[in-house]
Amino acid sequence: MAEEIIRLTNITKTYKNKEGTLDAIKKVDFSVNENDMVAIMGESGSGKSSLLNIIGLLDEQTSGDYYLLGKSTKEYKEKQKAKLRNELFGFVMQDFALVDQYTVYENVEIPFLYSNKFKGISKTDKNTKIKEILDKLGIGDKINERSTNLSGGQRQRVSIARALVVDSKVIIADEPTGALDEKTADEIMELLRQINKEYGVAVIIVTHDRKVADRCDKIYHMENGKLFL
Ligand code: ADP
Repeated sequence: MAEEIIRLTNITKTYKNKEGTLDAIKKVDFSVNENDMVAIMGESGSGKSSLLNIIGLLDEQTSGDYYLLGKSTKEYKEKQKAKLRNELFGFVMQDFALVDQYTVYENVEIPFLYSNKFKGISKTDKNTKIKEILDKLGIGDKINERSTNLSGGQRQRVSIARALVVDSKVIIADEPTGALDEKTADEIMELLRQINKEYGVAVIIVTHDRKVADRCDKIYHMENGKLFL
């Protein structure tokens, strides 16, 4: 049986705005096991980012329960949440969110700077780990290149490498193919699938693109704060 990583039950997120309050997420149930690859589709403003922010521990729900690795997030201390944010989750964004003035190596090294799990890692072991993941993603030869010198597809590979390098268990990808042409988007999806299968990493993809969603095992839809299959 695949281990359950994420379980949201009856999650609501209410924002305060000028007009009063707005329920951006309404009584959502959602779960993700290891090995899962799921898509969330929905119009702009339907609540997808709000949901991802809660899942990735970047924001808290207004009501409902979020069980992460079997334990309610209300029971995690702030420090533990920071650790989970950095080590359990890998974030992949539409605009790649790389540091432009850094090389590929330096970008992929970033999670190590914040990781307790790899605090004592030797420089040689760290280099080996970074090189391995870059080779795996087909950009080993770009290791010393500045990230701005790479194509969109290559930059997205760097961001996936960064998301994986500290052995994350869940990749949260917000429109990962949104800035790529169709062929490159296809290659990135192929890669995410390969990682999902080989490492058992769960992948949650928010996308507008039906073709991207069709490559996932399950497609959720968000509409006006409600989530359904
Ligand atoms: P999506 O990612 O699907 O575009 P969002 O989660 O960004 O949707 O937004 C859902 C709704 O919540 C929208 O109506 C948006 O304006 C509102 N919203 C999002 N973030 C905030 C916030 N920090 N404060 C107030 N309203 C917000």
